[in-house]
Amino acid sequence: MPTFTEARKIILDNVATTNMERVALLDAIGRTLAEDMAAPWDMPPWNNSAMDGFAVRAEDCQGPATLRVTGYIPAGAIATAAVEPGCAIKIMTGAPIPPGADAVVPVEETVEGTDSVKILEQVKKRQHIRFAGEDIKAGDKVLAAGTAITSSGINMLASLGAALVPVFRRLRVAIVSTGDELVELGGQIGQGQIINSNALSLAAAVREIGGEPVIIGIARDNRESHLHLLSQGLQADVLLTSAGVSAGDRDLVREVLTELGVRQLFWKVDIKPGRPTAFAMKDNIPVFSLPGNPVSTMITFEELVKPALLKMMGRTRIIAPTYKATLTEEIRKKPGRLHFLRVTLGKGKDGYLATSSGNQETGIVRTMIQADGLALLPADKSVFAAGEQIDVHILNHNFEMEEA
Ligand code: AMP
Ligand code: MG
Repeated sequence: MPTFTEARKIILDNVATTNMERVALLDAIGRTLAEDMAAPWDMPPWNNSAMDGFAVRAEDCQGPATLRVTGYIPAGAIATAAVEPGCAIKIMTGAPIPPGADAVVPVEETVEGTDSVKILEQVKKRQHIRFAGEDIKAGDKVLAAGTAITSSGINMLASLGAALVPVFRRLRVAIVSTGDELVELGGQIGQGQIINSNALSLAAAVREIGGEPVIIGIARDNRESHLHLLSQGLQADVLLTSAGVSAGDRDLVREVLTELGVRQLFWKVDIKPGRPTAFAMKDNIPVFSLPGNPVSTMITFEELVKPALLKMMGRTRIIAPTYKATLTEEIRKKPGRLHFLRVTLGKGKDGYLATSSGNQETGIVRTMIQADGLALLPADKSVFAAGEQIDVHILNHNFEMEEA
């Protein structure tokens, strides 16, 4: 049985990045850039004023000076006339610096007359000028392939004229639930039945990282139903199944997937929760068979499926960063398996404080919702003392309350 890191490696070694397409800039938000983006021109494109004020020659303003105002350049205008010795041109923020000028004096540091302006402070050469190319030089790489496109990235790409951007294709992720006890959300809930919540949380998790979930439906606990839905699921780029893989089950998922010609790579992982997680490939389509208990489904998605989907989507950073946190209480577990402990995080003197979010049974969804992160408790250890440092994967970035 592979360990957590072995299982993740087997998965990542088997999945490949999808191909690319070009989309309108705004539609690229959250998508992964498929090519490095270089600046076609300097940013800013030309020297311009950083303030509303007067374009001057610094040498004319070494002491208090009165300059003749010979023009006005609002933003969007072009500067043709030069600033002559003893003169100034009124200029607005973002307007091009006129020839001859080598400094801008903010309007607050002047007294305006009718055709003249009094400069109150000594002026330094280059002050309040934004120089061409000081942000980005033509040819500079501004965004690297494999990064997620953010709103600030969109600002940069828009400024550089990128109307269409190369991104990796959106991944279609099929989701098949299994179990005779399941009913779809909105349906009549009979005796002994529960709502198929896993399909929705998996779909949401896929969407959160920019994938396109395709909910196939519920395979009933018989071979025909499994054959029907699993083969439908294999039409997508990735297939996720939930339940029907734990010990005591008839193991229908694995049986039928094998019948459908998948290549099994592992069918158990040495972790808790999530031990009965299976991974297989059907040609280029990865198939993840996740356990059915909602918490196990969510944790195995987070820890094993998500890195694979990110890799397929073309991301270069695919493994969740590990943060150090200090335990506020003693935690005990059985030695042998890596445990993912649901924890809440607080602020300590030097870094995060981690506290169990409560009952860690896989049937308890409440402590998963309340968790800010998953602590990775190493397989070989069983007692973790209060004050000990542990590794945590962050789940939710909880915001602070508004300050009074
Ligand atoms: P199983 O692996 O089929 O024995 O399922 C394990 C547990 O997960 C059982 O308690 C199931 O009722 C529950 N479960 C299975 N599938 C789902 C689902 N789609 N949504 C919510 N709970 C589920
Ligand atoms: Mg079942």
